[in-house]
Amino acid sequence: MARYKDEQCRICRREGQKLFLKGSRCYSDKCSVARRNYGPGDHGQKRSKLSEYGTQLREKQKTKSFYGVGEKQFRKYFEMASNKKGITGENLLQLLESRLDNVVYRLGFGSSRAQARQLVNHAQFDVNGQKVDIPSYLVKPGDIITVREIKKDNKTIKENIELNAARPVPGWLERDFENLTGKVVRLAEREEIDLPVEEHLIVELYSK
Ligand code: SF4
Repeated sequence: MARYKDEQCRICRREGQKLFLKGSRCYSDKCSVARRNYGPGDHGQKRSKLSEYGTQLREKQKTKSFYGVGEKQFRKYFEMASNKKGITGENLLQLLESRLDNVVYRLGFGSSRAQARQLVNHAQFDVNGQKVDIPSYLVKPGDIITVREIKKDNKTIKENIELNAARPVPGWLERDFENLTGKVVRLAEREEIDLPVEEHLIVELYSK
């Protein structure tokens, strides 16, 4: 069980970067990357040089882990990103940022994306006054996300509001904790997305 609990930290250690998969622990000195910044396992301290393909693959895996998205769905986002105007890699990250579970996390109603996903699954939020319990729902500019009236006493959400009051909200979102609501002002710009990834490598991988 202990091994399972550490699984998310192992992902960060494998990537050599904090991916913020565990909520408040990620912001504390208990973070495994902060304490042991080398790969997991017996050979973790010897990082071997990756091939071009290996580097591209790692960037993809890191991005999937960051947003908690499986291969099939990730591929679907890539196809959507390719069909949009603009830079495919940036479109891809913008789509991932627009997922409702990510928005709930960014607003601070969830302490991690995984927890935000669970809250959305349990129908804790309305979008524009309608219940939405699909974590992959893509928000649009102008959308209003609200904790549902019958869920306003949810203990987890209340705790998160207290914990995350000081956590900044990106400029593309607005938060109103007092009224348990948030607004999508516009879509995220690349420089507002704090994922340490070279997204062009993912595009190269899928373009082979
Ligand atoms: Fe674990 Fe979070 Fe640190 Fe990653 S960022 S190693 S999930 S505590």
